[in-house]
Amino acid sequence: MPVITPSTVDEVLSQLGERPDALLLSGGTDVMVEINMAHRKAPAEVIALRRVEELRRWEHHTTPDGTGGTVMIGSGVPYAEMEHGPLAEHFPALAEAARTVGSPQIRAAGTLGGNLGTCSPAGDGLPVLYALDAVVHLRSASGARDVPVGEFMVGVKKNVLEPGELITGVTLPVRRGWQGYSKVGVRNAMVIATASACLAMDRERGSVSLALGAVGTTILRCRDAENWLAAEIALTDAQLEIGDDVVREFGQRAAADARPIDDHRSTAAYRGHAVGVLASRLLRRAVA
Ligand SMILES: Cc1cc2nc3c(=O)[nH]c(=O)nc-3n(C[C@H](O)[C@H](O)[C@H](O)COP(=O)(O)OP(=O)(O)OC[C@H]3O[C@@H](n4cnc5c(N)ncnc54)[C@H](O)[C@@H]3O)c2cc1C
Repeated sequence: MPVITPSTVDEVLSQLGERPDALLLSGGTDVMVEINMAHRKAPAEVIALRRVEELRRWEHHTTPDGTGGTVMIGSGVPYAEMEHGPLAEHFPALAEAARTVGSPQIRAAGTLGGNLGTCSPAGDGLPVLYALDAVVHLRSASGARDVPVGEFMVGVKKNVLEPGELITGVTLPVRRGWQGYSKVGVRNAMVIATASACLAMDRERGSVSLALGAVGTTILRCRDAENWLAAEIALTDAQLEIGDDVVREFGQRAAADARPIDDHRSTAAYRGHAVGVLASRLLRRAVA
């Protein structure tokens, strides 16, 4: 198959404008498996994104007082760059999620753009993007639009990307407060999540975010559990003190928000139980 190798976003968009059905290839860790396993027809044309440096950068936009602000992460930044270093300091939950993805080889190639493109409810990057209220940036030959991540994913492996659209990156707010990601699978490494959860606290706004993965057709935000916990605890700069009963009830409320199904990876009953345990454990870690 012909592979087109642009080196700028403008070149990608002009190629996509002429051939909107061409397959976009970032790290290839999802698509090449699908093609090799015959789950996807080999495309007529491929546009490879690896040489587009603009997509492989991230930028911190600080506020005038030098704190917080937002970070725009290019869709082609590999997980390996999120595991340690400045991105990991801004987003510890993203670093934890990145560290659980596949193997070092997969993390060197795989990207958030590809995680969003595939849009599996088990994608490890997605609960973090949901918990942090990320905005997804899309461009095409005819324009640009920004989509809140909660509106981007519309079903199992379904998103609002139109033919000819490119994910250029995501913007995340830098928040002051604990955040973490955790997942369970059938073994400790190289495993797709059976259930996953991201908990993030925002001390400025006194709010809590909890997003669940692999327990619904999309990533789920647990608004009930979030509001209940924020009302139970005072998210001030003082050390958090939370009793066992609060930890337990938070897990129960998270499990109640899950919409798990039985499939080849697990049962609905186990997933519902596991995601409650994950939420409770994340809260315990936040307190510790
Ligand atoms: C051995 C192995 C282990 C894995 N383990 C995990 C795991 O633990 N957790 C996990 O979440 N995933 C895992 N994966 C899946 C995969 O690595 C991730 O989903 C990764 O984020 C995909 O990124 P990519 O850049 O390789 O995407 P690609 O395979 O290049 O693309 C995936 C999809 O996104 C589209 N796409 C890519 N970039 C863009 C863009 N910029 N704009 C629009 N569409 C785009 C492509 O057209 C395609 O449809 C694993 C895969 C393998 C092979």
